[in-house]
Amino acid sequence: SVSRLADCLAHWAAVAPDHPALLHEGQSFDYAALDAAVSETAERLETRGLRPGDRLFIVGENTPATVMLVLAGNRAGGVVSVVNGRMADSEIRTLHDFADPRIAAFACDGSAAATAHARALGAEGDGPIRLGQTRDSLPEPRGQDPRRDTALIMFTSGTTGRPKGVMLSNACLLDQAKSQCIARALTPADTLYAVSPLSHNIGLVGNVLAAFAAGCRTVLPIRHDAGYLARMLAEGEITVIVGVPQLYAGLVEHAVREGMTFDGARLRVAGSGGAPLDPALKERVRGLLGVNLSNGYGATEFVPVSRTPLHLLDRELAANVVGVPSEGVELRIVDADGTDRPEGEAGEIWVRGPFMMQGYFRNAEATDEVMRPGGWLATGDIGEFRDGLLSIVGRQKEIIIRSGFNVYPTDVEAALSTHPDVSAVAVVGRPVQGNEEIVAYVTALPGRSLDPQALRDFVRPVLTAYKIPSEIVVLDVMPVGPTGKILKAALKTRA
Ligand code: ATP
Repeated sequence: SVSRLADCLAHWAAVAPDHPALLHEGQSFDYAALDAAVSETAERLETRGLRPGDRLFIVGENTPATVMLVLAGNRAGGVVSVVNGRMADSEIRTLHDFADPRIAAFACDGSAAATAHARALGAEGDGPIRLGQTRDSLPEPRGQDPRRDTALIMFTSGTTGRPKGVMLSNACLLDQAKSQCIARALTPADTLYAVSPLSHNIGLVGNVLAAFAAGCRTVLPIRHDAGYLARMLAEGEITVIVGVPQLYAGLVEHAVREGMTFDGARLRVAGSGGAPLDPALKERVRGLLGVNLSNGYGATEFVPVSRTPLHLLDRELAANVVGVPSEGVELRIVDADGTDRPEGEAGEIWVRGPFMMQGYFRNAEATDEVMRPGGWLATGDIGEFRDGLLSIVGRQKEIIIRSGFNVYPTDVEAALSTHPDVSAVAVVGRPVQGNEEIVAYVTALPGRSLDPQALRDFVRPVLTAYKIPSEIVVLDVMPVGPTGKILKAALKTRA
């Protein structure tokens, strides 16, 4: 019986003990070894004073020790938060104080960043897993049914501001992982490339937990190295990738630079989600790998809202089509006052169903802002629903109001991204005397250069005049956050 996340591991340890579970920088763990390490770590946590319902704050990167700590905390009945070791000391301290954990744990197996934080936050020992002092803190309530207990407090990406702590139950996370398995038809024969950070949904649930639910092999590199991924793909090692669009943008850049082809690739599924997918990127990936990116949509608060099932991947779908609602998910497209929009017209996406968060940790005000009567979550995203397919139009928070017209950055980004020399693009608003100007940030593909005036001329035929950027800035690198998503808030400040 599977009632907690860690039970998936125990299941495969019993059924297929020798099957490889995790590959990391030359290290390999089969299911039996990983499960045993998780139990051992759970005992360590309990000895150190972790009780059921206690919060465990984990600082780590994508390493086996981070995976072990998450599942050990879960096995011990704890409430786990993972933060990316690569964040700044001050950011980690802020999240640590907010999470108010009983124990802080550090995954120091090859993560220089987490090791430095372990020292700074006073953790003892020198093994791959280091524990800080046990502190007083009130445990979260536990009931008779562990499935309903809060398993994780997951911080949002902070794309639009300060991260919030999203509380998720065991049942919700298991359902999410199962849904991802079904959508991708995962079997133990699959090998996933899991590079999205374990601190966020795609990395932890969409990659690792989904893989463990299906008994797959997971390749867990400590950081994204497009060259390594390209090599593994070309050698037919990887069958499934799920990540943010920027992961694929990096892969394309690498392949262009090296003139690589992927004839021997066995890639079955290439999932994209977490941020808008540019049409040009979708095309380039198809040209390179021979697969259509499968676009899926969700937010830490509720994921997957929708995804593109395998049988729809042969269809010519626009890049912003995020597929059909996931099983059990109810979806509405509504006006500002919460009335349903007619089919095919844009409005805010509201969702309800099995993948819903329990609320924001210690932030009832923010929870009330997004939860609507009847148990609906207002996503803050604008979408359209037509012929059973959902498309994303943009984010409410990112709409630019120029001379009274609403401009969705994704429209402008899509137009600029089709330029053959553009690699990445991000569009933000700049307030100017009661109006907003459109500022576009672009990066070039390797070996190419970009001229702002030429780019403006390029988009003129496809964009209405008020959507043409007032300024186009060429950057060497796009600022991205820990999840690999472009940091729009930082660009807005810069603009
Ligand atoms: P914060 O809420 O802290 O600003 P964030 O919203 O980026 O951060 P996440 O929960 O990681 O935090 O991201 C969810 C958001 O990402 C969605 O609300 C949506 O705006 C966007 N998104 C997710 N998938 C897609 C997709 N396939 N296409 C377009 N946008 C997407």
